[in-house]
Amino acid sequence: MQKTIILGAAESGLGAALLARQLGHEVFVSDYGKIKAAYKAELEENDLPYEEGGHSEAKILAADEVVKSPGIPDTAPIILALREKGVPVISEIEFAARHTTAKIIAITGSNGKTTTTNLTHHLLHSGGLKAVKAGNVGKSFARSIFEKEEADFYVLELSSFQLDGIVKFRPHTAILLNITPDHLDRYDYEMRNYARSKFRIAMNQTPADLLILNYDLGVNNAELGIEDEELDRLEARRVYVKMNFAATDEITVADHTFDLSQTDLRGPHNRFNAECAVRVALHSGLSPEVIQAGLETFKNDPHRLEYVATIDGIDYINDSKATNVDSTFYALQAMQKPVVLIAGGTDKGNDYEPLTTLAEEKIKALICLGIDNEKLIEFFSPIVKIIEETQSAEEAVARAKIYAEAGDVVLLSPACASFDLFRNYKERGELFKKAVLRREGRGERGEE
Ligand code: ADP
Repeated sequence: MQKTIILGAAESGLGAALLARQLGHEVFVSDYGKIKAAYKAELEENDLPYEEGGHSEAKILAADEVVKSPGIPDTAPIILALREKGVPVISEIEFAARHTTAKIIAITGSNGKTTTTNLTHHLLHSGGLKAVKAGNVGKSFARSIFEKEEADFYVLELSSFQLDGIVKFRPHTAILLNITPDHLDRYDYEMRNYARSKFRIAMNQTPADLLILNYDLGVNNAELGIEDEELDRLEARRVYVKMNFAATDEITVADHTFDLSQTDLRGPHNRFNAECAVRVALHSGLSPEVIQAGLETFKNDPHRLEYVATIDGIDYINDSKATNVDSTFYALQAMQKPVVLIAGGTDKGNDYEPLTTLAEEKIKALICLGIDNEKLIEFFSPIVKIIEETQSAEEAVARAKIYAEAGDVVLLSPACASFDLFRNYKERGELFKKAVLRREGRGERGEE
């Protein structure tokens, strides 16, 4: 009986464990930390043997194959020991992909993964195709296969960590949206290591497959430390998509024009995401009319340039998911009114330089929302006249209101992670929305 060990007991680990058991493997789940109550209950309900708070090394080293959760770095001692012994260590994506014949559409990038995955899935699904969404959004790929969901297409959101653990994974269509500094702590602070990890999405593709690639990545590859020969080795048919900063609500894809003015997709970055998704939809055989209808019924997830309210002529926008500088760059890019920006939080080694021109043009006040705002203040004080420090969403909104006038926009787009003051970006966004609406005496909006 094949011995499969699963490292990490969260969504991807549970999915892999359930699938491995279904396949008749001998399964053992090991988590170095504490397992969340819901996953523990699921392990017990399913009689899946597990341990937590440490790894039984001898047992793990005796595995035929190890499926590693994306949260575990390659430098973890147990991974080093497994590699030393030559035990194959793969990601849950690699494991799951072996057990489906559906067409795989895999999406990665530093920013825009969730939006593009949701949109691609929505276009296919609303066009009447059997498409299932999995990976980093919603349920894990392995769980979806375990549940035998009916799928002709899998639309997968993949992080670089998931791509690090693939061996033969070969998406029929891959989208590589962009590569900008993020998570560098897992890549020896080397951009090229991170970039290589992202490009792995295409490494097993053949000429029968499609690679939708950001034009800049295909041209400025040297800047990322990706050699021309490395690019040349990629066999897939390549289609470039270019970011277009012109003021337009239209995109043209393969000679068909689509109107985004009545959609949730605002700003050049979302036009770019839409172009990638529309390419997949056309490639999957849908007609331009059906795709246009799908674009108009798409609802983006909250916290991504989410319109909250207009109060006293001031627009409030929640972009709490902007946890790095590049996403804030595009949020500012999308704003057509003077901006009171609420930003700050846990700095991931940020360089704010790319924001300079947009800040000069658009930011009238900066409200810092974080425990340590020194870096923000230092960078922005020569550019932005009004800078204040706050330590709660409520206070930030109250201060922003003082500086915003009718015709302005108050934008929460932090460029930083949220962990200093909040549980996560969702809590930060929710508290922002609450503060905005409470001041109006409108109470909470009960959605989500
Ligand atoms: P991810 O899943 O990669 O984190 P999301 O779709 O959740 O991406 O968006 C994260 C943040 O990045 C949001 O603030 C969003 O407005 C911004 N964003 C979305 N698409 C892009 C893009 N193509 N380029 C840059 N920023 C983007």
